[in-house]
Order: sequence, then structure tokens, then C-alpha cells
Amino acid sequence: MEDRTASNKIAWKSSLSTQLMVRALIGAVVVGITLSCFQVMWEAGKASSQIDDDANQLLAVIEDAATQAVYSIDADLAERVLEGLFARRAVKYAGIFHPNKLALAEKQRPAVQKQFRWITDAILGKEKTFQIDLQKASPTLETYGMLIVKLDTWYVSSLLLERSANIFITTLLSAFILALVLYLGYHFYLTQPLKSLTTSLQKINPAKPGLQSLPTPLHHQSDEVGFLVSSANDLLDSIAKHQQERHAAEARVIRLSQYDALTGLPTRGLFNQYLKSAIQDAQSHNQSLAVFCIGIDDFKSINEQYGYAKGDKLLQAFAERLIKLRDYIHTSCRLAGDQFALVLYNLASSYTAAAFAEGLLEEMHRPFIVDDSEISLRCTIGISIFPEDSEDADRVLQKAEQTMLHAKLKGASQFHFYVAALDTEIRSRKNLERDLAQAIKKQQFSVVYQPQIRLQDSQIVGAEILIRWRHPERGWVPPDVFIPVAESTGKIFEIGEWVLSEACKQIKAWQKVGLNLLVAVNVSAHQLKREGFIDTVQDILSKHQVAPEQIELEVTETSFMENIEDAVQILKKLNSLGLMCAVDDFGTGYSSLSYLKQLPVAKIKIDKQFVRDLMADDDDTQIVHAIIQLGRSLRLTVVAEGVETVEQQEFLLKDGCEIAQGYLFSKPISANEFTRYVAERIDIDELAGNS
Ligand code: C2E
Ligand code: CA
Ligand code: CA
Repeated sequence: MEDRTASNKIAWKSSLSTQLMVRALIGAVVVGITLSCFQVMWEAGKASSQIDDDANQLLAVIEDAATQAVYSIDADLAERVLEGLFARRAVKYAGIFHPNKLALAEKQRPAVQKQFRWITDAILGKEKTFQIDLQKASPTLETYGMLIVKLDTWYVSSLLLERSANIFITTLLSAFILALVLYLGYHFYLTQPLKSLTTSLQKINPAKPGLQSLPTPLHHQSDEVGFLVSSANDLLDSIAKHQQERHAAEARVIRLSQYDALTGLPTRGLFNQYLKSAIQDAQSHNQSLAVFCIGIDDFKSINEQYGYAKGDKLLQAFAERLIKLRDYIHTSCRLAGDQFALVLYNLASSYTAAAFAEGLLEEMHRPFIVDDSEISLRCTIGISIFPEDSEDADRVLQKAEQTMLHAKLKGASQFHFYVAALDTEIRSRKNLERDLAQAIKKQQFSVVYQPQIRLQDSQIVGAEILIRWRHPERGWVPPDVFIPVAESTGKIFEIGEWVLSEACKQIKAWQKVGLNLLVAVNVSAHQLKREGFIDTVQDILSKHQVAPEQIELEVTETSFMENIEDAVQILKKLNSLGLMCAVDDFGTGYSSLSYLKQLPVAKIKIDKQFVRDLMADDDDTQIVHAIIQLGRSLRLTVVAEGVETVEQQEFLLKDGCEIAQGYLFSKPISANEFTRYVAERIDIDELAGNS
């Protein structure tokens, strides 16, 4: 504001009025002087003819007397005539001459000496000379002499000088008066209103240009100044309107970016701000707070099953349940698609957070009614605590997220606290990813085979090929650890192809020694879904000249869940090529009769977790029994894995399970060991048969 008023002080010299005055003055002076010069020249002409007239009159008066004097050669008379002539001030010289130019009488006096003579002398000359012939007409016209008179011009020209001075002074004076009048007129009619307009403009708040309008200076309502003011006011109004619209748009954008459109919850950015202030508060009151990161488990499947519209409504309902907790929590937000976060403040201890998490899980695990569907979901919570886990808002949130994501990978619908060890684990996983990328090239992988036994007659009917990784520093890394890593990095495709090639090579090798075995190869869900998977399998089989009937692909239930139609298509195509498929880990996923009926599979494998507690746990016994019945009713071969005891074997046999696999028969072993194992069994059988 100060700067704006400072610029109001315009120097007098640069003021419009002064500039106009100076220009008018110069113009008037130049025009005035030019006109005056013309006038003076005209006056000079007049003065010159006045001298002539005077002289002519004078000569006429004395002509006769002078003629008489020269005629009668009377020097006295001539003298007196000249005396009479000199009574006139202007006469400077007079002489009466005989025709032979001899003077009869002469008289003169000095020229008048005056200060400004040089000016008039320049215009009219110092003197003017007049001459007449002195003649008598008796009887004939005869010349007796001549009269010469010189007149001093000063007496006439001093008057001219006076008049000229008058002319110039009046002209200059009127020029000055004109300039002054113009200055005043301009000052009052233009400069003054412009000045007051500028002052009013400077008073306008640029942030609120429409608040005051500019006043129209008095008597200027209908002239250009008035028009300028009303145009400026219109402009200010429309600037104000535009500003308002822009503010509204900005507010809208901020709202949109700060609040999630679907659930109305704050988004990550705003949540971060809240979290920061909550942490500042907690710091100043010496309190702790907990950040919860809540992830809905496998939300993708819910979307697939119920459609995206219901998925969205479910998220809204989820958010509503979170909002209802506002009395207990500081703030909540939607971090990403199926991830939410909240801040629990004034935390008495980690137990408080644990108790709250338990309650929250219970609340969220209660079925949601969306339209006419009842949808149940599970969630996983990651919890980090200020100040224990970090004192920085970003880090606290990041740790809660890490914890949640990590817990999700482990498949636990529970709550987990961030522990520093997690960081180490994450770093170690990064190293694992890096090493895994090199493992094939460095020939660190090998394969083992686990026999599959037909329970009815204890015959070896096949083998499951299982991969092994010997890490140069870590030693044996279990496939349960590195397969998910390979899946997430995409390395699984190369690994899968390598395992299938190994299986093919082994089938050929066994065929050469007369062993015809079905080899089961584990196929990751990622492989199955990948375009060109069938072609890849076919290429590998034909490269090793292995018949498709010799290979069985083990696919997990979860491979089908996301898109059952696609899975059916792929499995049908594999079937038509002669490749059989088995459902691995049956019972751990969404085992449902409806999808199993659609799938063109030949086998289901009961997961080892149910076999392990067979008979010891009632539920597991029931599950195994149900799976066997289900398999039989759909005419599927049921395979039990993880059989470790004779009791388990007997139960399975009695219940109708056809094939078993487990430590009871053999651990996964190398190909050579497997060949020996088969040879021994044949020997035993032969011995048994012989006896
Ligand atoms: P899976 O397909 O369920 O394989 C069976 C697992 O159970 C194997 O573990 C095997 O060693 C183990 N097992 C067999 N009999 C018994 C028993 O009597 N008791 C117990 N406790 N365990 C038994 P492994 O080899 O560690 O493999 C773990 C998982 O890694 C496999 O589970 C499979 O999902 C995956 N995997 C292994 N090799 C491959 C592969 O080549 N490709 C893919 N995609 N996944 C593989
Ligand atoms: Ca398997
Ligand atoms: Ca399994």
C-alpha cells in the first residue's frame, strides 16, 4: 500500500497541467512574436511615408522663398530661409545651391544620439534626403538652383519604437494570460479529477476490488472523466466477480484433493496434516498416540464377486463404520483403494491400542448389508506408535502401512504392531529379490521329487516336482519364502519354465530306464493368468518330446477365484491338449462346490494342514471327510498331501481317498534317490509277491 501512495506524488514539472501550460506558452509567444513582427513592419512602412509627407510639405512651404533667394543671388535671404527650416527638429541638414552646384547657403546640426537608435536606424535608416529644383516660370520655365534637405528619422522612428514595444508587451502578456488560463482550466477540469481518481484507486484493496467503487468527480458525470470512472468501476466489478469464481474453484479443487469423493473421508494429504498436529499436541502433553493402517483383505475378490458398484458401496459402508468411531479417534482417512488409516490419541499403553484394534476388527468383520447382499470381509491392521516407533509423522504412518502390508502377505486377518525387526525383514526381502533374479543364471536352483502313492495297492503312481534354492550365504531358502517373492517380481515365469523343463528332462531319463511316471508340476496363479502360458507349456513339451499325458499341472484354488470364466477357458484348452490339472491346497481358499463343478480338473489335493491334525482335531477330520466326499461325488481323484502317520494313511484309505503323498512314504528326494526308491519298492513288492 505504501508504495502505491508514494507514486501519487507527481513532480510539478511533470504534471499534465504544467506541461500543457509550457507548451501553450511557447506556442502563444512564437505566434505572438511573429504577428507582432508583421505589425511592426507595417508600422515602419507607415512611419517612412509620414517622413516623406512631412518633407514634401516642408519643401512646398519654402520653395518660393528659396527660389527667390537663388534667383536674386541673395545669400541673406537664403540664410534666413534655412534658419526658418531649422525651426523643425527633424531637419538635420539644408542647403541652397546654384546650378553649378556652388552653395549659396548651407546649414546643418548633429544627429540626435539615443540608446535605441541602432534599432530604428536598421529599419528606416539614419536620415532621409530630399532634393527639389528651384524653378521660375517667367516667361519660360527655367531652373535657377536646387534645394537639398536631410531629415533625421529619429523623431518619427522613436514613436515607432514606442508602438512596437507596446505591441510586443501586449502580445507576450496575452500569451502568459492564455497559458495561465489554460493551466487553471486544465488543472481544475482534468488534472485535479485525475488526481482524486488515482487516490481513490490506490485506496482499493487488490484482494477485494469490488468492495468500494470509484467516486465520480463533481460535474464530471457525463464527460470523458465520468465515462472513465464508470468503465473502471465496471472493470473492478468484473475483476471481483472473476476473483470470486476463481476462489470458489480453488476451494472446490482443494476439497476434492483433500477429501475422498467416494467415502467423504480425508485423503492422505489432509490426514498427514492432522497427524502432524496430533503429534505436536501429543509431544507437548507428553502423550503417545497410535496410527492404525487398516487394509481390507482380498478386496479384489469382493469386487469380482459382487461387482464394482457394490464394492464401492461396501467401501462407503466401511467408511461409515469408521466415522462412527470419531468419539474415540482423532481422525481417519482413506489412504488408497482398500486402505484406511486412523489416529488413536492419548494412548495409555500399547494394550489400549490392542484392545481398540480387537474391537475394530470385530466391528468390521460384522457382515455389511449392501443392497440385497450380505457381504462379510476380513481386514488386517498395522499399528505403529508415536514416539516409540518414530517421532516423525510420515515415518509413523509409513511404518503402520508397512506393517499392514507385511501382515497381509502373511495372510493374517489380525492386527500387528510395528517392530523394528520389520525394517530388517523388509531390507532382507529386497536382498532376496536381487539374489533371486540371478539364481537361475548362477545355477543355484535344483529340483526334488516326492512320490505319490496309490493307497489301495501302495503303488507309486507319480511324483511331484519341487524346487530347491541353495543360496550361497543363507543356505537352503524354502520355496514358501522365495516363490511369493518371485511372483511379485515376475521372476516366477522364468522359474516355472525352468522347473517344467527339468520335469520333462527327468521324464525322458526315467523312460530310458523303463520308468513311466506322471510328474506333477506346481503352477503359480501368475503363470496361469499370463497370456501365452499354454503356448509356452506346449513349446517346452515338444522341445523335450514329452507327451502331455505325462505331466500334471497343480494349480491353487486362488488362481481361479479372480476370474472363473477365464480359468475355465484355460483349463479346457489344457485339457484338450491332453494336459491334466489338479487343484492344489484344496480347502484353504474359497472351496466351493459351484466353481469346482465348472472346472475341468481331474484331481483335488487336500492341503497338508488338514491332514496334519486329522483325528486329533474334530474340525479337520470333518473337513477331510467332506473334501473326500465332494471329490467322489464329482468323480475327481482325491490326493492327500502331508501324510506322516500310518493312522492318517488308514483313515484316508478307509474314507475313500485314492492317492497320498507325505513323509510317511518319502520326503522330497533327488531324481537319483527317487530311481533307487522306486527300485527298492519294486523289489519289496516282488519279494512280497514271491513269498
Ligand atoms: P505344495 O505344492 O503344497 O507342496 C507340498 C509341500 O509340502 C512341499 O513343501 C513338501 O516338501 C511338503 N511336504 C510333503 N510331504 C510333507 C509331509 O509329510 N509333512 C510336511 N510337513 N510337509 C510335507 P515345499 O517343497 O517346501 O514347497 C512349498 C510350496 O512351495 C509348495 O507347496 C508349492 O506351493 C511351492 N512350490 C514348490 N516348488 C514349486 C515350483 O516349482 N513352482 C511353484 N510355482 N511353486 C512351487
Ligand atoms: Ca503342490
Ligand atoms: Ca499343498
